[in-house]
Amino acid sequence: KRIITTENLQEDIKIENHLRPQLLKDYIGQEKAKQTLGIYISAAKERGDALDHVLFYGPPGLGKTTLAGIIANEMGVNIKITSGPAIEKPGEMAAILNNLQENDILFVDEIHRLNRQVEEVLYPAMEDYAIDILIGKGATARSIRLDLPKFTLVGATTRAGMLTAPLRDRFGVIHHLEFYTEEELTTIILRSARVLEVEIEEQGARELAKRSRGTPRLANRLLKRVRDFAQVKYDGVITEAVADYALDLLDVDRYGLDHIDRNILLTMIERFQGGPVGLDTLAASISEDAGTLEDVYEPYLLKNGFIQRTPRGRVVTELAYAHLGIGADGA
Ligand code: ADP
Repeated sequence: KRIITTENLQEDIKIENHLRPQLLKDYIGQEKAKQTLGIYISAAKERGDALDHVLFYGPPGLGKTTLAGIIANEMGVNIKITSGPAIEKPGEMAAILNNLQENDILFVDEIHRLNRQVEEVLYPAMEDYAIDILIGKGATARSIRLDLPKFTLVGATTRAGMLTAPLRDRFGVIHHLEFYTEEELTTIILRSARVLEVEIEEQGARELAKRSRGTPRLANRLLKRVRDFAQVKYDGVITEAVADYALDLLDVDRYGLDHIDRNILLTMIERFQGGPVGLDTLAASISEDAGTLEDVYEPYLLKNGFIQRTPRGRVVTELAYAHLGIGADGA
């Protein structure tokens, strides 16, 4: 199994929940989102009102779910967590909405995957705090409007562009979550180590941070794997050397790339002369789903300058050639 996947692995969920910061002040990085949310939360609390609907978008593992939980904590309200693919029928969505209490948070992960009919239940719910229910059949059918408590919808998606316009327009606050800096990840890792009671040296944390692709979920996961390693092989302390050795064994290189990332770059170089190559063609060549390639692998490669997007497709950069130790002539 891929160690650096940013997906939520079952075995890691418990530890992940354990490591989630509960308050805005403990949430590291994403300064812009934190500042504005802090203001909106204080204002809504002062008015005794529900917070405006919030949409978070960005690659997996950057802290969208965590922020939703923090908003609920800071507002002092309940949070109901669900996801786009989990709700199949409009009636299920109506029932969830109807069970909310005043000012509660409804968190919908992967909100772009809601089907159309379910999504349509959300329109009046978000706008007027009401749902329209169809009663009866055929010619005698009529729709009645049911009032809901005021609530806040917090949606998460990997790309804002995947949402339909009517849904996107109903969010009052939209935040793009950014990859974390090495500094921020080091702080997150040191905090997680304290919570998990793992002994780690600052340099060990920094080494882990460098290889965590800007993603806290991955940083925490690597910390856990390297801890096991340090326990068995060394005296339990994660030093720079231990981190370095373990990560090499786990096939995570010094930029946080693994064999899939390197395969993407190599395929572009060897089969497409470095590009430009279209997303679908590239995805087919590496047997990956185009959506996963675009949402999960590509953002980090783009951000770190290994590939670039051009109107004619993706191209690899000199940095990629240098990193893989290949000359630009392919030698
Ligand atoms: P997403 O919903 O974007 O996929 P999560 O909110 O589930 O990501 O975050 C994944 C893990 O990373 C959680 O265990 C959380 O503790 C940690 N994490 C995310 N963002 C932060 C942050 N800003 N500070 C500290 N830990 C974080």
